[in-house]
Amino acid sequence: MKTLLLTVDNCVNNSEIYSQAVDYLNRGELVAFPTETVYGLGAVATDESAIRKIFEAKDRPSDNPLIVHIGNVEEIPTYIEYIPEVAKKCMEKFWPGPLTIVMKAKDGVVAPSVTAGLNTVGIRMPDHPVALTLLRTLKKPLAAPSANRSGKPSPTKAFHVKEDMDGRIPCIIDGGTTGIGLESTVLDVTTETPVILRPGGVTKEMLEEVIGRVAQPTLQEQKEEKTPKAPGMKYTHYAPEAPVYLIDDSTNLYEAIARLQAEGHTVALLAPDGYEQCGANYFFTLGDENEQQQMGVYLYDALRACDKTDATIILARATYKKGVGVAIMNRLEKAAGDKWYNNKK
Ligand code: AMP
Ligand code: MG
Repeated sequence: MKTLLLTVDNCVNNSEIYSQAVDYLNRGELVAFPTETVYGLGAVATDESAIRKIFEAKDRPSDNPLIVHIGNVEEIPTYIEYIPEVAKKCMEKFWPGPLTIVMKAKDGVVAPSVTAGLNTVGIRMPDHPVALTLLRTLKKPLAAPSANRSGKPSPTKAFHVKEDMDGRIPCIIDGGTTGIGLESTVLDVTTETPVILRPGGVTKEMLEEVIGRVAQPTLQEQKEEKTPKAPGMKYTHYAPEAPVYLIDDSTNLYEAIARLQAEGHTVALLAPDGYEQCGANYFFTLGDENEQQQMGVYLYDALRACDKTDATIILARATYKKGVGVAIMNRLEKAAGDKWYNNKK
């Protein structure tokens, strides 16, 4: 299959591009498109055979559900039995935006593979002109996970999608670099106290200002649950080829890097600005440590860049778990499989 790259910008006839993409989707094919979080790999959410192609193209485990993207709030009652008050407040405050709300699904409306057999469905309205125009032209919901091969870092640029999906999907819409760089916050409102299943750009603090107490279990607590609420959480994610080790700020980076190099390692370092001179063979910046939004934008690009090097080990400087830092550390802990340099034998 040849993969077509369609670029939307101010200089070309964009309406033709959208109608081409909509044609693919209506024919049950996949289209990758930019959102404000990361690039998504979309298929019509009610078309089971199209949805199966997402799982094939990504090599995604079939018990990992997909998020449904909509272009208008009015569509919600089509998919949801009952919209809880907290969900309404969140939609009003955070949509369009990087918040996925998990609610009880109406039976038999979205394709069964979208919910992976759960009786809930995660829905969001993306805040990106290309995603919204695509959805509103299509006039159908799009189920879309991140447009990377399963396990790899999510794509924040169209060429990341091409790296992972070339020859596997017919069409990528290139709308430039995504703004946030981290996937949406996933909030489950089916329990008495809403639970953050995946941290993201909409933080616990922001949610609590609008809907009161919200629970945010750690990765460890989620792992200990007998039946994981967000099935995706149990899989490896965001991982480059070489092993990633987190390193905290009490460990001397110079010494750690020198020791690894003496052991024969080629070291890539992912860290905020200011750590360029630590002697690593490769340095990838995570931006300004005091601007965690910025760190989110750099993170996946930096993890992917490691795969272009001959590094045999990747050290990632831990950041503080406050605000968006919670989401950044969640992704880094998963990329590292929770390995810390100090524990390295
Ligand atoms: P991705 O599509 O790669 O961004 O991953 C979507 C994430 O949302 C996964 O971790 C899923 O497990 C989670 N998710 C999607 N739908 C649901 C749902 N109905 N219930 C719980 N988690 C969900
Ligand atoms: Mg993903």
